[in-house]
Amino acid sequence: MIQSVAEFQEKMQLLSKAFLTDLPAKTKDIETAWLQFQDHRNTEALQITHRKVHGLESASKTFGFRELSHAAANLEHALKQLLQTGPDQNDQDQAIHQQIAELNRLAVKPKQDSSLNITKKLNDTRRIDSETGSKVFVVDDDQESAQELAMQLSYYGYEVEVFDKLAKFRTTIQKNPHAIVLMNIEFSDDDLAGIRVMKEIQQKMSESVQVMFLSSNDDLALRLEAVRAGGIAYLTKPINSTDLIDQLDSFATPQMQEPFRVLIIDDSDIVLAYHAAVLELAGMTVKTVNATGAVMQTLLEFNPDVILIDIYMPECNGMELAKVIRQIDGLLNIPIVYLASENDFNTQSEAMSLAGDDFMVKPVEPKHLVSAVTLRVRRARLLRGLMVHDGLTGLFNHTAIKEQLSREIVRSNRLKTPLSFAMVDVDFFKKVNDKHGHAAGDRVLKSLARLLKQRLRGTDIVGRYGGEEFAVIMTDTDAPDASKVIDEIRKVFSRLIHMSDNKEFTVTFSCGIADIQHFPDAKSVSNAADKSLHKAKKKGRNQVMINAD
Ligand code: GH3
Ligand code: MG
Ligand code: MG
Repeated sequence: MIQSVAEFQEKMQLLSKAFLTDLPAKTKDIETAWLQFQDHRNTEALQITHRKVHGLESASKTFGFRELSHAAANLEHALKQLLQTGPDQNDQDQAIHQQIAELNRLAVKPKQDSSLNITKKLNDTRRIDSETGSKVFVVDDDQESAQELAMQLSYYGYEVEVFDKLAKFRTTIQKNPHAIVLMNIEFSDDDLAGIRVMKEIQQKMSESVQVMFLSSNDDLALRLEAVRAGGIAYLTKPINSTDLIDQLDSFATPQMQEPFRVLIIDDSDIVLAYHAAVLELAGMTVKTVNATGAVMQTLLEFNPDVILIDIYMPECNGMELAKVIRQIDGLLNIPIVYLASENDFNTQSEAMSLAGDDFMVKPVEPKHLVSAVTLRVRRARLLRGLMVHDGLTGLFNHTAIKEQLSREIVRSNRLKTPLSFAMVDVDFFKKVNDKHGHAAGDRVLKSLARLLKQRLRGTDIVGRYGGEEFAVIMTDTDAPDASKVIDEIRKVFSRLIHMSDNKEFTVTFSCGIADIQHFPDAKSVSNAADKSLHKAKKKGRNQVMINAD
């Protein structure tokens, strides 16, 4: 996994070097293929030659050997024409022969075009990812309420710093311009201190600071001033921490999202490595496949958000493969983007009308690649999200979590790794609703969903199983280990302060866990988790039980 521009550069240099070393052999290979075609004069031999030239063209272009890729592109064009007119036509043979000789000549010491130096442009793509942080500055001269707020936020995974003096905040924010500020408006010596200081800071900084204002007053004039000071939200006290978290999450989402999963299918290892490196640098998870044989397995297990397919591959073309993918259950709507060489341009409209969504010319500029993939994944996740996610909590819904459970169990059994299934049920939730109202109950469910997502690993899968019941799939974890993790969450949850009509209350949950060492299939493991949950309830609630049968 590539995480820094330096790593990326190093990898590209290595690949580029390997390419250069192999180059003379590659052009010789093209010459040999061409001579064999001369002997046989059949389509198959011509296709082999064409394929080799095509590969050389895209690889040389990726590394910025413009002259070489140009020569390869011309040769490819000539071969393509010959394929169309038929292999018997020999009036272009002499010209093609010369083009091959030219390739051989260029291969000895090809010129690398520095203007194509991609690494320079990479910093831009990287910045997007690291900008929005999860750092929160709470600014309030009422120490006690500021500390309480900070503690609640830290339960949800935010890194919080409290400032009771404006002077200290002024200097710190300049060093951390991407922190989200929770600014109290009223200070003991000045009723508008918070707004004044933010106005001053916004003017000084080159980009605006994200600030949410907190106030005991709710009037239009004050709200207007808050907006003028760059306020992105206005919350009145007493602060409802679940509402606050919702707002914070919406500003800090990039960090809270699972990384985008991208599958790239291309027959050239060099082209794969390049595109994968660009996307990894932007924080995405990438899998590459260089032969169609491995596509099925990877598709089902990796479950990509988007697929990039090379148009031209030896075993089959990208368009055929796209059709096959679309016929697989559940993959009808997966976005497919074709990667093509310039010479494939006339195939473009055909590709689009068949099954594809978009078309990019290789090598795709880093910034363009990242933004195109980001756009497609966002849209696809949004659409898919509406189908598989629960509206209240945003977690997987009942059907989706059951599907995931079957998928993960198959995988874990194959890899011989443990897996635990946990069922979490809020204690006495009916009473919460009765006492504090349904809306307050909903907020409790949202806060629990948020906490589970926040506290579990990115690889754990969280769903809303039913009303006030949640399910968690923990891969690579047996029941005792899972129990430790959930128990930590149980403790934190029991300390969260919920709010309704200015009344504070706390809530607990019980949990039952089972693992596949003891219950090897989806049905028995979920039954056992359910039984364990009942045991936890019977024993007095607010606890975790495992592997009951
Ligand atoms: P126990 O500790 O035994 O789990 O008691 P309980 O009250 O939590 O369990 P019970 O199953 O009797 O009640 C669950 C309640 O959850 C009943 C239902 O009205 C409420 N509920 C289910 N879905 C929602 C929802 O989406 N929002 C709200 N606010 N309440 C819900
Ligand atoms: Mg319950
Ligand atoms: Mg229940």
